[in-house]
Amino acid sequence: FHDRPGVIWMNGEFVPWADAKVHVLSHGLHYGSGVFEGERAYGGTIFKLDEHTRRLHHSAEILGFKIPWSVEEINQVSIELLARQGHKDAYVRPIAWRGSEMMGVSAQANTINLSIAVWEWPSYFKPAERLKGIRLDMAKYRRPDPATAPSKAKATGLYMICTLSKHDAEAKGYADALMLDWRGRVAEATGANVFFVKDGIIHTPTPDCFLDGITRRTVIGLAKDRGYEIVERTIMPEEMADFEQCFLTGTAAEVTPVSEIGPYSFTVGDITRNLMEDYTALVQGKLQPAMASSG
Ligand code: PMP
Repeated sequence: FHDRPGVIWMNGEFVPWADAKVHVLSHGLHYGSGVFEGERAYGGTIFKLDEHTRRLHHSAEILGFKIPWSVEEINQVSIELLARQGHKDAYVRPIAWRGSEMMGVSAQANTINLSIAVWEWPSYFKPAERLKGIRLDMAKYRRPDPATAPSKAKATGLYMICTLSKHDAEAKGYADALMLDWRGRVAEATGANVFFVKDGIIHTPTPDCFLDGITRRTVIGLAKDRGYEIVERTIMPEEMADFEQCFLTGTAAEVTPVSEIGPYSFTVGDITRNLMEDYTALVQGKLQPAMASSG
């Protein structure tokens, strides 16, 4: 990924892709003091850009620093960069981190850096392929208690356990892993939120110690627009035995059906299929959101 054509925006300048480097003594590398976003552009428009940029700013506040570029400036640069790289369907990755002026746990004087990169990412919408559903392992690690880690920030350090869990799952032939929270409740996948369906009702865990994903909220809106009943509540892992359908939501995952989680299996039913279709139509600008999904 370190040598591609084009530019990366870094600290106010567009620099050639291969030259967008950081010093090895960057605080963000040593102590996990970074926050980032994952966004997607469809047909040249970054979906929910402003919401993502606001979350980036908010994540930084949670980690005790202020990004020296405003939400409006970051939005503007993201749009300009996408156009400059000439992509229509793309992934957008802004990241902010504490720099290398001081070395140690404390880094009060370190500059806050910001970079934004975009790369082409076609929306492979192959319904037949995706409708088979993906298989998830049960992760060994759990989402931490909000009293243990700032669990609402999209912070680099929080992804250590996600990478470990995903690598373990992949080594066993699974696509991803389902993480419980520190209390043993169903939480989310390593980079996406989770939903279940039973008797026509949608159930999803209350996001009290993990990201309330932008896609999660969008899909809840789409479900309401369809008139589906949706319940946010505590979900225990044993309940998965009774759920009929399961799907993940996320910027990268979009709406991805799940066929298996550990010992539990699911079918891909109408509700999952309809929400997958609605989400695709929405991001492609082919669905006018009703009241519920317009946020
Ligand atoms: N949980 C985690 C751990 C994630 O990394 C993501 C992706 N950002 C999500 C949930 C879904 O968030 P969003 O829908 O905002 O992409």
